[in-house]
Amino acid sequence: MRADPIQRAIDEDLVRVLYAQDPIAFFSHWFSIAVLVALYWPAIPSPPLFIACFGFYAAANCAGLALWICNRRYAHLVSPRGWINLHAVRGVLLYSAPGIAIWFAFQSPQSDLPLLHTVMLVTLAAGVFMSNGFDMLNFSTAIPFLLFPSILLHFGTHTFDRTILAIVLAFFFCAINVYALSYRKLFQQVVQARVDQQYLAESLAMQKHVAEEASLAKTRFFAAASHDLRQPLHAIGLLAASLNDPAATPAQHAKTAEHIVYNVEALNQLFNQVLDLARLESGVTQVIRLHFRLSELFERVGSQYRPQAAAKGLALRIPPTSMVVHDDPVLLERVLSNLLSNAVRYTEEGAIWLGVRRAGRTTGGYIEVRDSGIGIPAEEHERIFEEFYQVANPQRDARQGHGLGLPTVKRLVGMLGGELQLRSAPGRGSVFRFPVQEGDASAIVASLNEAGARGPSAQGRQVLCIDDEPSILEGLSALLGRWGCTVRGARDEAAALAALADGFVPDAVLCDYQLANHRTGAQALTAVRSMLAHAGHEGVVTLLITGDMASAELAALALQGIPVLHKPVTAARLRRTLEMLWQQAELDKGHQGAASELPAGQSADAGSEGTVLSEENGGAQAIMPQGRVGVQVRHRPQSASQQEG
Ligand code: ADP
Repeated sequence: MRADPIQRAIDEDLVRVLYAQDPIAFFSHWFSIAVLVALYWPAIPSPPLFIACFGFYAAANCAGLALWICNRRYAHLVSPRGWINLHAVRGVLLYSAPGIAIWFAFQSPQSDLPLLHTVMLVTLAAGVFMSNGFDMLNFSTAIPFLLFPSILLHFGTHTFDRTILAIVLAFFFCAINVYALSYRKLFQQVVQARVDQQYLAESLAMQKHVAEEASLAKTRFFAAASHDLRQPLHAIGLLAASLNDPAATPAQHAKTAEHIVYNVEALNQLFNQVLDLARLESGVTQVIRLHFRLSELFERVGSQYRPQAAAKGLALRIPPTSMVVHDDPVLLERVLSNLLSNAVRYTEEGAIWLGVRRAGRTTGGYIEVRDSGIGIPAEEHERIFEEFYQVANPQRDARQGHGLGLPTVKRLVGMLGGELQLRSAPGRGSVFRFPVQEGDASAIVASLNEAGARGPSAQGRQVLCIDDEPSILEGLSALLGRWGCTVRGARDEAAALAALADGFVPDAVLCDYQLANHRTGAQALTAVRSMLAHAGHEGVVTLLITGDMASAELAALALQGIPVLHKPVTAARLRRTLEMLWQQAELDKGHQGAASELPAGQSADAGSEGTVLSEENGGAQAIMPQGRVGVQVRHRPQSASQQEG
């Protein structure tokens, strides 16, 4: 908690306590005026001065009450500190009159008057201590006016008893100052404790609210997810049962199989969308920024969506742009793909526009995806970014999407450092836009569309598979065998190391994340890698396969650049990933060879940009460094996980 709110809370409490005593003080001062006037009445010294002094005292007392009324009625007009200062001014005016008035006692022929007046002043000083002692300013401006004139005048008489009285008064002055000091400290501690407690209670209430909201959102998420997952599962169950029907003709069987494949694909797509979101939430997705021409990215996504748009009679317009941006092309492509697919889905006539607008004189600009579609009512502008929320799909027909596109887009844009903005109204189309950073044309090392050729084939490769589940090992062996690989299966780390000790040198190691005996795939891979490195086999491709989503270890693996595939893994996805990793490994070898030929002192790491596996559908493409010697080649682990089958 910062000091300012505490100081303000202390000031507010001070104002409350200082002013709370004022009505009582008002009557006490009238009593003091009455007593003093009664004491002096028999022989008033210098009557005009006396009247002026006590008139001033009475006026200051009334002004004090007026100030109290103002504080009650117009507290908001002045800051708490201001009210404290005004109260101190009132103290100076109010206490100076009785303090200075002791001079009349020393002018009076009545010898006991100085004593009686002093008693009155000590009583008032005790009152000031009680009511103003916890504020330094109010206390230190009132007390000296009350006591100093009396101390000085008693000293000035040069008689023994008055000098003693003056000393006692001075001692009293010092004592109440010391007490007031600790009084103030105590007051501050009490207020601080109260403010801390209040702050704690408020933040607890806020956290509780956030937790409740999160729990509600989770419940909504699971309700929608389980519904959308159940639908195709249910259909697959029924269709599979109908395959057993002996009366069905081969044509009917073929149709049923087609339906099953369709539902499996729908299920797979939904799974991938949910996993994508979970990956974004869990923080394993890295942002890797490159300098690249925006037109190349537009061309790529444009070519993906132009046929769909044309099939609906829509024009997809992409004005040419020469802008170079510094952004993550893979994540940006996912954003644009989602927005364009929505634009096509929710537009029946007119056009879709994808372009970039310069942001005034500042560098960078805004990418916009516009459509002339059905538009979105203002009251839905926030909700459409919630998971599984769809404006008009009450039957939750899977063909109309699942409501996960925009939540993914919003997170991706946030990860890229921007904010997704929406302008839309029913019947007037929609505009989604977000900022992009201007890049540097001279720093472009990769052409997005000069994608690498297909990776090296799997034929003749040796693959070591580590999984504690025999059926998975069997499935993997059969699949990799069909691709022409020689496969060795291992149920655990020890068996894998034994295979290596046997002389099996793999081109790739596939490993499940959760292994038996509380071992993780990461640990097994480390052991396998180090044994291979020992035997002089560096750079063997390793790939973790996991159903785990959000563990800290996975995030750490992502940071280290260890490729991770998330279950369910399709055959095509596995194959593409392996091919890309082999391709990268070969590139790595080539670059190392080239780097070793560099003159001394020249870095092998010539740039921060490198090979990035594209995440999108059909993403076997790689963004390749262009003719740079010794360019660092990096993996994007989670991207490998996204290669769609
Ligand atoms: P999905 O499109 O799969 O339903 P999204 O999260 O992408 O899920 O979108 C959520 C909802 O926002 C959609 O159901 C749709 O109602 C609305 N929406 C998104 N984009 C557009 C658009 N371009 N035009 C009109 N409505 C849209």
